[in-house]
Amino acid sequence: LKEKNARSLWHPMAHPADSLANPPTIVTDAAGVTITDVDGHTVVDGVGGLWNVNLGFSCQPVKDAISGQLDRLPYYSIFRGTTNDAVIELAEELRDFFAPDGLTRAFYTSGGSDSVETALRLARQYHKIRGEGGRTKYLSLKKGYHGTHFGGASVNGNANFRTAYEPLLPGCFHIPAPYTYRNPFDETDPEKLAQLCLAALEDEIAFQGAGTIAALIMEPVLGAGGVIPPHASFMPGVREICSRHGILLIADEVITAFGRTGSWTGSRHWGVQPDFACTAKAITNGYFPFGAVMIAEHVAETFEKDETGRAAIGHGYTYSGHPVGAAAALACLAETKRLKVNENAAARGRELHDGLLALQGKYEVIGDVRGGHGLMCAMELVSDRNTKAPIDKKAIGAVQEETYRAGAMVRVSGPNIILSPPLVLTSEDVQTILSALDAGFAALA
Ligand code: PMP
Repeated sequence: LKEKNARSLWHPMAHPADSLANPPTIVTDAAGVTITDVDGHTVVDGVGGLWNVNLGFSCQPVKDAISGQLDRLPYYSIFRGTTNDAVIELAEELRDFFAPDGLTRAFYTSGGSDSVETALRLARQYHKIRGEGGRTKYLSLKKGYHGTHFGGASVNGNANFRTAYEPLLPGCFHIPAPYTYRNPFDETDPEKLAQLCLAALEDEIAFQGAGTIAALIMEPVLGAGGVIPPHASFMPGVREICSRHGILLIADEVITAFGRTGSWTGSRHWGVQPDFACTAKAITNGYFPFGAVMIAEHVAETFEKDETGRAAIGHGYTYSGHPVGAAAALACLAETKRLKVNENAAARGRELHDGLLALQGKYEVIGDVRGGHGLMCAMELVSDRNTKAPIDKKAIGAVQEETYRAGAMVRVSGPNIILSPPLVLTSEDVQTILSALDAGFAALA
C-alpha cells in the first residue's frame, strides 16, 4: 500500500517533514474516538478526522439513516426545483437550529469550499438585485481559511493557499486578524487589539469605498490559520461596521457550527447574527460529503423579489441536497442535540486548554497556547521564546511522530500543533492526548 500510495496518489498538503505522511500512516479502522493504522497501532484522534468527526466514528443512528436512505432514494437532483422528503426535513431542522442566528433558509452544497463559493456569489447577486451592482469586492481576515475554490482562495488570508494560483479574484482585501501573539501593532492586550483591528477595517472600507464592497467573510474563531479566538468585542464590532456600511457578513462556520466552540454556532458564541453561515464538516460528521449555506430571511426575500424570478440566481451543484447526505445530516443533528455535544465541548475544551498551558510551563518550545472556546486548541512552537522565531519543521514533525507513538494523533499546520478532537471526548481521552503530547515534547528536549 505504501508503494502504491507513493506511485499513484497526490498529497499536495503533505510536507516532506510531516512525519505521518513520510512514510505514510495508513489508517485502516476507526471506532469511537480512536483510529487504528495498518500496523495495528490505535490512538485517540486529536484531529477529529479534519475538525469534522464531532460524534466519533461509531454513530449507529447515522449509519442506519444512510443505509435506509440508500435503499429508498439513493439520489435525485434538486437542481431545478424537484425536491424530496430528506432535503425538506433537513431544511426544517436547520431552520430551527439556526433560528437564534437569524438564518432561516438553506442552500445545499457538497462541502465547505462549495459553501464559501455559494455565499460569495449570492452576496453579489443580492446587491445586483437591489440595484447596487457596484458592490463586488470582498473583505476578509489575514490568517483566514476559506477553502480551495478560486473565490475561497481569493479571500484566504494565508499566502500558502494563494500564491501558486494567482491571479485570483480581483477586489479581495485582507485586514489584520486579532492575533495577540503576533500582530502589526505589537499589541498584547486582546481587547485593545480587537479595537485596532476594527479601526483597520474601518480604514480599509473608507479607502475602498463602502459602496464597492459586497461582503466580509470571517471565521468566528480562525481555525486552520492556527486557532485564533478573537476578543469577545471583535465579531460584534465587525457586525456593527458591516451593517452601517451595507456590507453583508458571511460567517464561515465550516468548523465552528454544531457545537465545536462550546456554543451551538460560532456566531452565537459571540452574540452575532450574520447574513450567511457557511457550514459543512460536522453537518454529516464525516459520514458523507455535504454542506449547507444558511441564509438570513431578509437576504432570501431579496432573491425572491427579483422580477426575473429565482432562475436569475443561476447557482447549484449536481450534488446540492444529495438525499443520502441529507439523511446523514438529519441523523447527525438529532444526535448532536441529544448528546448536547456543545456542553461536553466546553467542559473538555477547558480541561484540554488547562493541560496545554501546563505543558507550556514545562517546555520552552511552546511559545503560545490558544483555545479556551470549546474543543479547538493550538500550540504555536518557537525555537526561541524571546524572538518568537518559528520552530524548525523537522522538530515539529518529531513532536507529532512521538505523540502519535505515545497514543494521540495531532495535526501540524505551519508552526502550530492543532487539536480538534471529537466533541464526545471523555476526560480520560483528554488525559491520553495530554500525556501523549508530554511524551512528544519530552523526546524533543
Ligand atoms: N472554511 C473553513 C473555515 C474551513 O476550515 C474549511 C476546511 N478546513 C473550508 C472552508 C473548506 O471546506 P472543505 O475542505 O470541505 O471544502
